[in-house]
Amino acid sequence: MNKGTLVVVSGFSGAGKGTVLSQVFQRRPDLYFSVSFTTRAPRAGEQDGVDYHFITREAFEERIHRGEFLEYAEYVGNYYGTSLKVIQEKLDQGIDVILEIEIQGAAKVREKMPEAVSLFLVPPSFEELSRRLHSRGTDSEETIQQRLATARREVKEIVNYDYIVVNDTVDQAVGEILAILIAEGCRKERRLDLIEGVNGL
Ligand code: 5GP
Repeated sequence: MNKGTLVVVSGFSGAGKGTVLSQVFQRRPDLYFSVSFTTRAPRAGEQDGVDYHFITREAFEERIHRGEFLEYAEYVGNYYGTSLKVIQEKLDQGIDVILEIEIQGAAKVREKMPEAVSLFLVPPSFEELSRRLHSRGTDSEETIQQRLATARREVKEIVNYDYIVVNDTVDQAVGEILAILIAEGCRKERRLDLIEGVNGL
């Protein structure tokens, strides 16, 4: 059986990753969304085991020492990490896995699993990113300016990703991601079983 594809999705804070990915999952319920471990506190409405596995710093560090993470990173004062075992199991079963992680983690995944496919979600412009962060109404002006400064620094990393997805409208971004998943699934490496043993091909 062919192994599943590991798909890494990153994007600026406020680029709309959550909305876009939830629609991708509605269209492709066969995909497995990796639930990360984190030491940050749950936000209102977030469920343990669904949005994240919420654990203490001590428990996270134990898992680091046991080598349980495919990657982990410290981001805005908290740890975030991806369980290696769960990902491996799904990929071995031929299931495509989506990781929604920040850029340091994405770089580690590319290093350890070069066959992974990586996507970076961008807004159509910086002005639009600023407008979206303001219209969410959840952050102070200072936090918004910090997020914009982080985004400007992160721009340099985007060239390391395989694809850039533009989130102009949610439908457009969802369409681009679905197209990438289809194209990746058609790669010859994933389809060699179709021609193995067929004479004349
Ligand atoms: P938030 O706290 O807003 O849910 O997530 C903050 C950042 O952490 C986001 O950029 C998100 O993509 C990233 N993130 C979530 N899970 C993981 C993970 O397992 N590993 C890494 N490296 N980043 C993650």
